[in-house]
Amino acid sequence: MKNKTLNCDFCVVGGGLSGLAAAVAAAREGVKTVLVHDRPVLGGNASSEIRMWVCGARGDNRKETGIVEEMLLENLYANPERNYSRWDCVLYSMCRREKNLTLLLNTVCTDLTVEDGCIKSIKAYNSPAQTWYTVESKYFADCSGDSILGVLSGAELRYGREGRNEFNESIAPETADRKTMGPSCLLQCRETDEDHDYTPPEWAYKFTDPSQFQFRDPHLEGLQNFWWIEVGGSADALHDVDMHRDELLKIAFGVFDYLKNSAENKERYRKWTLEWVGFLPGKRESFRYVGDIIQNQNDVASGGKFDDMISYGGWPMDDHHPDGFYYPGEPTIFHPAPSPFGISYRTLYSRNINNLFCAGRNISVTHSALSSTRVMATCATLGQAAGTAAALAVKYAVSPREVGAEHIAELQNILMENDMWLPGKRYQASDVCRQAQISCEGLRGGMNRAVDGIDESWQAQAGDSAEYRWAQPVKLQSTRLVFDSFLNRPEKNIIVLQCKGVPLCTTPVTLVKRFKLDYQDAAGNWHELGEFSNPGQRLCKLPLDIECVALKLTILETFGNETVKVFGWTVK
Ligand SMILES: Cc1cc2nc3c(=O)[nH]c(=O)nc-3n(C[C@H](O)[C@H](O)[C@H](O)COP(=O)(O)OP(=O)(O)OC[C@H]3O[C@@H](n4cnc5c(N)ncnc54)[C@H](O)[C@@H]3O)c2cc1C
Repeated sequence: MKNKTLNCDFCVVGGGLSGLAAAVAAAREGVKTVLVHDRPVLGGNASSEIRMWVCGARGDNRKETGIVEEMLLENLYANPERNYSRWDCVLYSMCRREKNLTLLLNTVCTDLTVEDGCIKSIKAYNSPAQTWYTVESKYFADCSGDSILGVLSGAELRYGREGRNEFNESIAPETADRKTMGPSCLLQCRETDEDHDYTPPEWAYKFTDPSQFQFRDPHLEGLQNFWWIEVGGSADALHDVDMHRDELLKIAFGVFDYLKNSAENKERYRKWTLEWVGFLPGKRESFRYVGDIIQNQNDVASGGKFDDMISYGGWPMDDHHPDGFYYPGEPTIFHPAPSPFGISYRTLYSRNINNLFCAGRNISVTHSALSSTRVMATCATLGQAAGTAAALAVKYAVSPREVGAEHIAELQNILMENDMWLPGKRYQASDVCRQAQISCEGLRGGMNRAVDGIDESWQAQAGDSAEYRWAQPVKLQSTRLVFDSFLNRPEKNIIVLQCKGVPLCTTPVTLVKRFKLDYQDAAGNWHELGEFSNPGQRLCKLPLDIECVALKLTILETFGNETVKVFGWTVK
């Protein structure tokens, strides 16, 4: 056995979409970060090991932006077939690019030390390398889904469903219980040119009667991914997960056997083959943190109008029945939720462990609110918010709670600068940006998207220019552009049912592909800063180091559309 000690400012445990976004956000703010993840691939339930697609807020231009949109756009650019290994690679590449981020894969956090109400270090074991890591850090984020740092440190946690009266939640059960939404093992199937027989393993269930699938409807068309193969929510979904996996696999292989060998329409599926079955159950719910607020169903329903909003949700309250597959009625109820509703910063840290953030499905919400906030695009924005808050905690040497009390406006503005949408708020451009004259005011207006009938974008074609102009020479350090990634685009990030002839998904045609920047010096001479190619992204940030009286942006090429929108162009 080897022992290694790492020292950092921010240690994130769990590399699902929330942990990945938290680690990348902090590293980009200059924070020395370590991400400890127990699996070989990143993405948690979105990874090739579990294969859930990324969902988020519903409705017109509601899609989450920031790091999660960057992942999805890179996936379109680098993975038009939407193949799983290439999606894993997109997530891995995001970490590889960050010089402040150390990634420990295959490394499971097993223990920690606490002093004076703060975590000092964690212990984690990397089995392939037979190495024990000690990671010492000023701040930690628990993005493990199951709140491992809370369990080990004695942070206040909740498990199960609140009783109806505790928060006056109409969709909660009458009395509190320890039931949860259960884990699932998913299937992936492929349509081929030949006929395929299927012989199930002898231990799989034999389903022969469609009534065994009432409200579930197994089929191999459309957006089916068998999410309803779910058990264990009425028992101990966390500690008995191995037992539940065995049950899930019996069902999963039995379902494919039913489609191939027993279903009324089995002839339709002669050319289908079983491509993949997940042996690692995807988990929906276990321990949740108790923060300085416990956001509940009523906060969701009333739109979450929090002054300290750092993210938003917009998925319905999708509350699965704890009996899962064995519940004879609808497996889930979609209780309506507004899209968007705000999420409070106070859900993102532990109430009693003073340097501990949390993000993802373990934030401080009730079971009912979780049934909406748990979707992965929401989780990723929560991760970005927690990682950015950790950077402010490092900068001011304060606790997560103090970041909320003293630096919330700065946190919100950094999130918007990095293209997160905080509904109802606008990004505040720097003084030097606001002092300039600009040819299109909306470019620095901070909306960053068209929403609720307000569209302040600059609409341009190849060859068109916009310009900032100052009365006196100014020094500029960086510029940032927000292009239009067509937030209403419908595709999923990966393909689950591999029907023949599924079209490729590529970079949105609404995006700018190439642009040029020029600046004018105090003597009136123009200089070319360069032509820039956009690798299919919505947010482009570029360092500058110039003194100028004018800066000009020229669109050179788009990804397809003749006229495109630019939602933001700012400088500082
Ligand atoms: C079957 C299923 C279907 C779903 N359907 C959808 C859907 O369609 N769309 C959608 O957006 N969401 C869906 N969800 C919900 C969503 O997947 C989860 O809520 C979301 O993945 C939570 O993100 P997270 O980052 O908090 O946790 P996770 O994705 O669970 O990631 C946490 C990671 O931490 C790692 N970890 C845990 N313990 C340790 C440790 N001790 N040390 C190191 N690492 C550790 C885990 O391996 C895991 O990879 C579904 C969930 C399930 C299970």
